[in-house]
Amino acid sequence: MNASVSNGRTSGTATLGVGELAKLRATVDGPVLSAGDDGYLAAGRLFNAAVEHTPEAIVQVTSAADAAAAVRFARDRGIDVSVRGSGHGVVGHATAGRLVIDLSRLAGVTVDPSGRTARVGGGATWGGVDTATQEYGLATPGGRVTHTGVGGLTLGGGQGWLSSRHGLTIDNLVEVELVTADGRVVTASQTSEPDLFWAVRGAGANFGVATSFTFGLHEVGPTVLGGLGTSILTTSHGVMTGRAAKKAGVGGEVLCNVW
Ligand SMILES: Cc1cc2nc3c(=O)[nH]c(=O)nc-3n(C[C@H](O)[C@H](O)[C@H](O)COP(=O)(O)OP(=O)(O)OC[C@H]3O[C@@H](n4cnc5c(N)ncnc54)[C@H](O)[C@@H]3O)c2cc1C
Repeated sequence: MNASVSNGRTSGTATLGVGELAKLRATVDGPVLSAGDDGYLAAGRLFNAAVEHTPEAIVQVTSAADAAAAVRFARDRGIDVSVRGSGHGVVGHATAGRLVIDLSRLAGVTVDPSGRTARVGGGATWGGVDTATQEYGLATPGGRVTHTGVGGLTLGGGQGWLSSRHGLTIDNLVEVELVTADGRVVTASQTSEPDLFWAVRGAGANFGVATSFTFGLHEVGPTVLGGLGTSILTTSHGVMTGRAAKKAGVGGEVLCNVW
């Protein structure tokens, strides 16, 4: 394909002039920001402030269809695309393209407590997921820091506080809605597009724009003992399951991550 959904800047040659920017604005529903526009700098800012890219356009898509329209626009013109989740990737791939598909407006979380699943927008953060799922005493293994993005973390495998009990984030991924490089919106799961579903679970971000994820949920909390502690390995089990839990008044399970 010409417009790659890319982990970094690739070799596209086209540039976006004023006329093309106007066409892009007419093509998508969400705001299109270019240098000088209000919000452009904030939208391009990354967790690693040492990385500064200057994309020609940042498209803040509002739906999967909008993301697909942006991908097709870029593809038709041979323009490099990158995808921004929450911008936590330390090397800054999220804004390395000439056209950035910014998913920050796709941050909704819908919980189905009886089915024990949560449908999560591709631009959500783990703080948003935890807040919504804990309303029902449920959770899924996600990032340890609230402002880490669901997108990049999940597509890279994902490991968090609950992983010793419930596995990696991708072990809990039920379904993903994805805009493919040819601009189609597809749903990948064990039964639909199974090869794509296999690929997105840990192979990284290059298989498309993930506009939503559906995760399985587990009963967790409401009281959870969290934090970092250090102990000599041979005694750590006793420390974590005994003393710390007693002190915190936690009667249930204690999950322990050992590094
Ligand atoms: C403070 C901090 C804490 C962290 N804690 C953890 C942790 O507890 N567990 C863990 O496993 N990892 C952790 N990480 C690593 C983190 O998972 C990665 O940096 C991840 O890439 C962040 O995802 P993002 O969406 O925030 O980043 P972004 O920089 O937005 O994206 C990173 C990459 O993923 C792509 N991408 C993002 N969203 C999508 C999407 N929806 N569709 C397609 N491509 C997408 C981007 O294009 C880019 O290539 C942490 C990182 C930081 C900086």
